Parts: sequence; structure tokens; C-alpha cells
Amino acid sequence: MRRNAARPAGAAANGATPMMEQYLDIKSANPDSLLFYRMGDFYELFFEDAEVASRALGITLTKRGKHLGEDIPMCGVPVHAADDYLQKLIALGHRVAVCEQIEDPAEARKRGSKSVVRRDVVRLVTPGTITEEKLLEPSEANYLMSLGRVKGSIGQQLALAWIDISTGNFRVAETRADRLLADIMRIDPRELIVAEPVFHDLDLRPVFDMLGRIVSPQPPSFFDSASAEMRLSRFFGVATLDGFGRFSRAELSAISGAVAYVEKTQKAERPPLGRPERDEDGASLFIDPATRANLELIRTMSGSREGSLFKSIDRTVTGSGGRLLAERLMSPLTDPGEINTRLDSVGFLIAEPELRDRLRAALKSAPDLARALSRLALNRGGPRDLGALRNGFAAAKEIETLFTGQHLPAELAAAFEAIRALPAVLSAHLEAALADELPLMKRDGGFVRQGYDAELDEMRALRDQSRRVIAGMERDLVEETGIRSLKIRHNNVLGYYIEVTANNSAVMTGTDAARARFIHRQTMASAMRFTTTELADLETKIANAADRALRIELEIFDRLLAEAVAEADAIRAGAQALAVIDVAAALAVLAESEDYCRPAVDDSLDFQVEGGRHAVVEQSLRKQLAEPFVANDCDLSPAEGQKHGAIWLLTGPNMGGKSTFLRQNALIAILAQAGSYVPARSARLGVVDKLFSRVGASDDLARGRSTFMVEMVETAAILNQATDRSLVILDEIGRGTATFDGLSIAWAAVEYLHEKNRCRALFATHFHEMTALVEKLPRLANVTMRVKEWEGEVVFLHEVGRGAADRSYGIQVARLAGLPNAVVERAREVLHQLEEGETSGKAARLVDDLPLFSVAVKREPSKPQSNDALVQAIFELQPDEMTPREALEALYRLKALTAKNR
Ligand code: ATP
Repeated sequence: MRRNAARPAGAAANGATPMMEQYLDIKSANPDSLLFYRMGDFYELFFEDAEVASRALGITLTKRGKHLGEDIPMCGVPVHAADDYLQKLIALGHRVAVCEQIEDPAEARKRGSKSVVRRDVVRLVTPGTITEEKLLEPSEANYLMSLGRVKGSIGQQLALAWIDISTGNFRVAETRADRLLADIMRIDPRELIVAEPVFHDLDLRPVFDMLGRIVSPQPPSFFDSASAEMRLSRFFGVATLDGFGRFSRAELSAISGAVAYVEKTQKAERPPLGRPERDEDGASLFIDPATRANLELIRTMSGSREGSLFKSIDRTVTGSGGRLLAERLMSPLTDPGEINTRLDSVGFLIAEPELRDRLRAALKSAPDLARALSRLALNRGGPRDLGALRNGFAAAKEIETLFTGQHLPAELAAAFEAIRALPAVLSAHLEAALADELPLMKRDGGFVRQGYDAELDEMRALRDQSRRVIAGMERDLVEETGIRSLKIRHNNVLGYYIEVTANNSAVMTGTDAARARFIHRQTMASAMRFTTTELADLETKIANAADRALRIELEIFDRLLAEAVAEADAIRAGAQALAVIDVAAALAVLAESEDYCRPAVDDSLDFQVEGGRHAVVEQSLRKQLAEPFVANDCDLSPAEGQKHGAIWLLTGPNMGGKSTFLRQNALIAILAQAGSYVPARSARLGVVDKLFSRVGASDDLARGRSTFMVEMVETAAILNQATDRSLVILDEIGRGTATFDGLSIAWAAVEYLHEKNRCRALFATHFHEMTALVEKLPRLANVTMRVKEWEGEVVFLHEVGRGAADRSYGIQVARLAGLPNAVVERAREVLHQLEEGETSGKAARLVDDLPLFSVAVKREPSKPQSNDALVQAIFELQPDEMTPREALEALYRLKALTAKNR
């Protein structure tokens, strides 16, 4: 009912109306977005957009009128719930153009009864440019990234710029084609924009294909490095860019693209972006995309955050702290000095547990300052965002008090300074102006504190007083008319009115005098509505007072908003400082509760971990109440007389814990360089420049690469890029092909790592033949995962020790996994034959000698001699053949038998 009421006049249901013409115009200007077309209380979608959205959102597809003789499909979402629908569409990778009515319908009517209300797109909502609290993950950054390219005489130069509009964070870095994907994955943007010609560049195309839907081509003019300076000066409102530092042309192109896209999507609004800051080349640990995925730093291979390193170690209490921690894990440092600066903060807060707890308590009440500020600057903010600033400042004040007089380490001292520089005047204004409880929307009013503005108080008093007068009037009218059920009510259409039930209406209409006094407004099925001159007068007074009160509140809102935006830089710096403190305190809590140690980080080539553990597996074993995690040492430091680090060749049984050991050492390097304590008894680490890890098999059939092909591509990347400062983790390379091919590749790879890359490395393999390489390669050492054999069973000790394994116990593990007995027995026979036999003709002989499963049949245990019915019944069970239901029934039968035998 409401929907129809909300439709503008002039939109007849037949044929192309002026309104539909307007729609088609606007749609043609925004072809790659779903168009949310505002009609009254709804955003409507038409044509294909309606079909896409109704499917994606699970809402009903209807139709409205005809276009070129065809029905026009339509669906709509109510404006008040639009954020929820936007969230779904954005999550699915759609872009949405929000089209609003930009004039009062009354204005349109003045131009003639058929005129259409003016509308225009006020904002493009895209995955990389959202700011709404509902659409954002509190602890995830939301980056829009732009790729700049300039072609010159020395080939092409590339750069990336990335912006989090929700916080104003703006960074830029140079990159190269061969590490483009790695650099993009490090930032993990929600959206990547590139110039159209770059998008179609054959060399770069594979990278874009890999990234999929997040990439979109944009007009080349966005990325024009020549006009970048002008665009930036205009955006930041400065006369020159001299204060911004020097950028290369590729960087300027990337920055310009990002800013142009922000302007395109935000239209008139300007988010409070920080100035672009450069990420220096080599300042962060290079982690290639495969390694990043394999190590499950922020997300697991299946894409969930649960089970990732981040989730396991995150003890932050604020969204911005969570984002900073995730960023640090994604981009660990390489400068030992900077790493130690971070570690000093953690150490300080471990030593000061009481201070730490009080800091965390204060931080818990600190809202997301940066995001609130961005919403305000984009005119999407409400009273609660101002409230967020107020509460954030209050928390900061508390932290300032806690820090005062402390002898702080450098990083925390800098944070302290930033907090002290938060705008005190604004803070005082917010405290004074804002009420304790705040409405979501500013148009609801009621957010300014009583006593802040004299005129506002007066208007409110008038408004409230009049309401009391209305209550009194109602009492008087009940008395006057004798109608006990008479009520004075209010709605948006009629305003205030007197309502009586139909039965009582005669009193109001029966006499001339009554008719003169009670002016008829509306007849309903069971009620009649009237007004009186006094009521109408009073209503005007109330409405005027309420209007004036709201206008005053909105003026105060705008004033505070302008004040906040003027202080954007200081607020952002303060917000960042709170995040830094949150991360340091969280890492201190982690170190203490999980028993982590401070790694000694320097610029040597050491890698010595004593009693190391896997940060994630350790906690999950504890949760499952399984056996405790077994700590292991790892020492890849250069031996006496050696200039380079060592390579450990790790053999051992399946399920022995090889992959876990490999990963735990990679994670320890990442944690240490991110500035965290590490899960070990002690750790000494010469900074790693690049970390590579090839762990586990995954195929990429979508892009036509087999498991083995993916493995080889990743291995090639490692051998081509690792330096003597790198750490390389290789898990079972060469397994996806014929044994001898695989062995040869693995063999050659180890030789290459040893002779050419000369990096520190861990290499796990089931090719036991390779253990012979220690004879030849001086920096190679054999280590193995220990097992015990007990009554034919393997017992995994999860202990790494010197030496080599003689076998892989694959068949025992297969048996544990529930392979049918016949297969296990047959496999034992085949293994035996293969181990005994000569290489040539072995397989052929196997086929001749051992017809399949004859062994198994031969070896079938004889029937039990016992007459015991229970044993007999158990003997006859065929577990591998049973359905779960049959198994359950069998259990009941056995149980019944035991009862009989008692
Ligand atoms: P495969 O050769 O079959 O791939 P693997 O040797 O790589 O096996 P992992 O996958 O690392 O073995 O470990 C197997 C299981 O053993 C893990 O799921 C883990 O729960 C457990 N595990 C591994 N390391 C340890 C440890 N140090 N302490 C306790 N449990 C461990």
C-alpha cells in the first residue's frame, strides 16, 4: 500500500513515461552499475538490473508498465533497509549507482503536473569505496587500489596506490611486472582499477585474470601522470605538491587514478584522505602470493578467517587495532631496528601488566575514530559518529593520563604524543554539545544536550509544553462531548486530529453548532476524524517550535562536523596511535598467555629456534583436548667457517608432523618481523628479505594448470628469486609425477638452493634417496620426524631429530585412515616385492606373480574355532560393506548377545 502511495504522479502504468525516459538516461550514463532509482520510500531497479538484483537478493520480481511493447521487470528495496541489500550486492562483487531525487516534488509540480522530479546519481557504491559501518568488517581494511603505468624509453614503469576511504589511509609504492601480483596480494584490496589499455595488455592480463572480479578498467584520463599534479592539488586544496615528497611518474599515475576514482564514486563529497605516503622498496618482507595463501596468514585456503594465523593471535580490543595487526602480519618489516622498536613496546607492556590492563579497558570503550571521521566528512555521518569522536577522545584522555610520567619506549612515546595532540577544543565542544544517548539519524533530532543552546531549550520547552496542552485539550473535549473514547492523535498526513468512533460521530456532526466547531477531516470505516481551530493553531505552534528546534540542532551538527573535518589530520594520527597501543598491548597479552618469547632480531643470517611451536596448531590441539604440541628446535644458522645459512632435509613418516614443522618456522619468521613475540623457548633470527613456502598440493584447473604444473611454477618462482637472505620452505616437491622424474627434480632443486640461492631452507621429502646428498653438500643436514613402532603400529612422536628416516610408513597410515584391509595387505605385498626386486621388469613380474587380491584371499584369517556366538558374530561382520544403519543394527545384535552370555 505504502509502495503505491510512494510512487510519483505522472508515472502511468502504460508505455514509456517521462519518468522511464529519465531512468534510461541515467542508466545509460552508468552502464556497469546496478541503478538504485529512488521513488518515494523505495529504491527501484528496472530491466536487467531488476532481474540480477532479485536473484541476488531473493526479492520478488514484479513488472511495471511497458517499454517497446514489452513488460518492464522491476524490483525494489525500502530505503530504510537499503544498507543491508547494498551489503549483499557489494559482497557479491556488484557496483551500485544510488540515484536520488534532487528536488522537492512540489518544485517539479510547479513545472506542470506531468513533470518528473529531478534525479541524479549521488554516489557509486563499489566494494573499494564503502564507508558504512554495516558494510565494513571492523578489523579489516577496505582498500581501493589503482595501478599506474608509464611507458618510456627504458620500458614500462609500474606503481600501485591504495586508499582506505573509510580511514583516509593513502599509500603508494613502485612495483614490477614480475612481482605485481605479490604486491597486490600483500595489500589485499577489495577493488583494483586500471586504465583500459593496461587492462587489455597481454603481458599483465594473467595477473588480472587471477584477481578476477575485483579488477575494473577505467578511462585512461584518470591515470594521466601529466595532469596528476593538478588533480591532486585540487583534491587536497593546496597550491603545489611540494610538501608531498617526490613521486615517480608511475606513482603519480597510480595516485591520480585512485583520486579520480574516488571523485567519480563519491561525486560531490570529499573523503578526508591523508596525503599519499610512499612504501619504500624492500622495507617489508617479500612474501609471494602462493606463500601467503599456503601459510594462511589472514585467511585459510578455504577463505575463512577462522583457523588463520591472524585469528589465532589476535587479542586486540578495537577494530582499528585488529586492522593494524592484520596489516603487520601481511607486511612484516625487514629493518632490525624498526622491528626491535615494536618488540620494545611489547616487552614494556609485558613488564607492566597493570598498566596494560588499564590501557585495554580504556581502549575497549574507544570507538573507531578514523571511520567515524570519514563518514562525517562524506556527509554520511550521524550523531553517533560525532558521539564516536567524543567517546574516542575520552578514551584517549584516559590513556594520556595512564601514560603520563611513564618512561615509555620509542613507539609508545610517539603514540603518546599523537594522543596529546588530539584537538582538545573540539573534544570539549563535543562533550558539552552532545546528549548521552544519541539517535542514529540527525533528522530525528534530540542529540544536543539540554542546556547547551538557550534558544534550542526554549523551542523544546514550547514544543513539549504544547504537547501537555494537547493532553489537556483532549481531557476537556472528552468532558465537553461526553465521548469517553475520544482521542487526539497525530499522523504525518493530517497532523493532529480528534478521532471518535463511528458510533459517536453524531455528537460531532448532529447540530450546526457542532459542525461549526468540529471541522470534518476524514471518514474511516470505523472512525471519524475532526479538527478545531484551537487544535489547528496549537499544531502550527508545535510544528514551528519543533521545526525551529530541529534546525538549531542541525546547525550545531554542521558546526561540530566542520570543526572535526578541520582537525582530520590530528584525529587520524590519534586514531592510529590508539591502534598502535592496542596492538602492543594485545601482543603482550598473547606473549604472556601463550608463553611466547622475544626473538633476538639482527642483520645476521642466523635462524635458531629452540622449542618452537606452531602458533595455530598448538592452540587447536589444546581446544580439542588432544595431546599437547611437541616443541621442536630448528637451526639454520651458518655453521662455523660458513658464510651462508643451512638447509635441513627433513624425512619422516606420513602424518609425522613435517608440514607442521616447516610452517611453524615460517610463521615464527613472520611473527618476529611483524614485531611480535614468537611461540618458542628462544629464537635468534637474522632478518629474512623474502619468504617462500611451497606447501601442500593445490591445483588450478580453472586456469588450466594441473597440480604438478602449479607446483613447478611455484618452485620456479622460488629458485629464480630467493637470495642468501631468504628463507625457503619446500614441502615434498616432485610428488605429482613419476617417481624418478620427481626425485630428479627435487634433487636438482636442493643442489640449486645450496649452490646458487644459498638461502636458509627447510626441505621435506619422501624421497629417502636424497639423504645421500649430505655427503656432497656441506651446508645440508639430514633431520627426521621420529616415530616408534609398537606391536606393528606406528606411534608418531612429532619430534625432530638428527638423521634420516628409513621409510615413510605410508601403508600404516593408509590403514589408520580406513583403507579396506584387502588393499592394505595387497599393498604390503607389492611394497615387499618392489623393495626386494630389481628395477627392470619389476612391475611386469608383480602382475604375473601376484594376481590381484589372491594374497588377500589366501591370507584371510581362518574361522574362529570358538563356539562362542559373540566371537562368531563379530567374525562375520563386514565393516567395509556396511551402511551406517546396518552397523548400528549389528551393534545392537552384539549387545543382545553379550546380554545372553552373561
Ligand atoms: P604427510 O607427509 O602425510 O603430509 P606430515 O608429516 O606433513 O604428513 P603434518 O600434516 O605436519 O604431517 O602433521 C600431521 C598431524 O600431526 C597434524 O594434524 C597435527 O595435529 C599433528 N602434529 C604435527 N606436529 C605436531 C607436534 N609437533 N606436536 C603435536 N602434534 C603434531
